[in-house]
Amino acid sequence: MRFNNYLQAIALGLVITLVSASAFAQDPSQPAQIETEQSFALWVEEFVQKAVTEGHDESFARSLLDGLSPDETVLERDRFQPEFTRPIWEYLRSAVSELRVKNGKSALADHQELLNNLQQKTGVPASVITAIWGLESAYGKIQGNFDVVRSLATLAHDGRRGKWAEGELLAVMTMLEQGDVSRQELKGAWAGAMGQTQFIPSTYLEYAVDGDGDGKKDIWNSEADALASTANYLRRHGWQSETDWGVEVKLKQNFAYELADDTVLSIGSWQTRGAEPFSGRTWREDEVGDAARLFLPAGASGPKLLISSNFRVIKRYNNSTAYALGVGLLSRALEDKIGLKQTWPKHLKPLTRNQIKEMQQLLQIAGHDPGGVDGMAGPNTRRALRAYQHGIGLIPDGFASTQMLENLRVNHKPRQPH
Ligand code: CA
Repeated sequence: MRFNNYLQAIALGLVITLVSASAFAQDPSQPAQIETEQSFALWVEEFVQKAVTEGHDESFARSLLDGLSPDETVLERDRFQPEFTRPIWEYLRSAVSELRVKNGKSALADHQELLNNLQQKTGVPASVITAIWGLESAYGKIQGNFDVVRSLATLAHDGRRGKWAEGELLAVMTMLEQGDVSRQELKGAWAGAMGQTQFIPSTYLEYAVDGDGDGKKDIWNSEADALASTANYLRRHGWQSETDWGVEVKLKQNFAYELADDTVLSIGSWQTRGAEPFSGRTWREDEVGDAARLFLPAGASGPKLLISSNFRVIKRYNNSTAYALGVGLLSRALEDKIGLKQTWPKHLKPLTRNQIKEMQQLLQIAGHDPGGVDGMAGPNTRRALRAYQHGIGLIPDGFASTQMLENLRVNHKPRQPH
């Protein structure tokens, strides 16, 4: 997993872009800035000792961090907590936009031989590699222009994700020592995701490959290296070459919706439980492998899919179901295949973070543990909601809507404090 949830949200464009205030423009005589400079200098000393313990050269570590100061823009982005998240259908509208499909088809055509070779070698379809390329960096065009060393040093010094950032900074040192990249070339997004693949440094060390055979793994400038690295990442995480990422289904009346998310069955077993292909279509028995899950991205009134283990492999690239569905649907659009047939329930208003927190508290009161009150409608919240819906005779689809919040409010009003 490359990002925590919040970073994924940023990477996905699910949150409003923050316009940064001028970075560290205060007067140097200000006490707050002097304090920051002093504590940053202390952190540099600690980090240099850590780097030496890990086998790196002391003067190299010192020279790498020499003259750096924390980047306030990076901290602002790291601390930004969006109140609203876009509903999945709005995310998909941008992920599979006309422009992205058009540019993706050109990219596929321009790199056909390379992508076909990668597909043959790794089993990952050319369209899936291209779709990831399109979502990560707009086919190489948007890679981020932050200084990776400064971004990671900023996050390491700040401490909220200090241990992670220090690990990534050590990985950067290894990249430089191996001659993979020069100090000046180390550019990326604000939290250290680099190049056309948007790999963080530790992912680069583990999964980047030399696709064009020039001896370098240049995920910034070489399409061959970037695309081969993405294909390698998916293959190493278990991509099944004969299996599609997912297939859309219709569900019979009285279908047992509590099977969503967690139950793993073959396509035949799903069929006996009431999942059907759309008319005019038949299923191959191995279409989504023998371990398919039912995925309801917007509950019982939206599209329904059986997803394979490959869907989970895409999530290893970016741990978000919206992202994985975006990659899947973009790849399909690049092949001129039909997207989803069922429409999205656009009339349902998305919940704010605070409303999801309220829903989680009310579920607790109702005796269904949502696994914490964090404002994110993840698998545990959906499971608790399904149990609640089942208990009161509603379709247990686990979809957190304003309707369900209202239902919980009426039935499980918290006691007023005296
Ligand atoms: Ca190369």
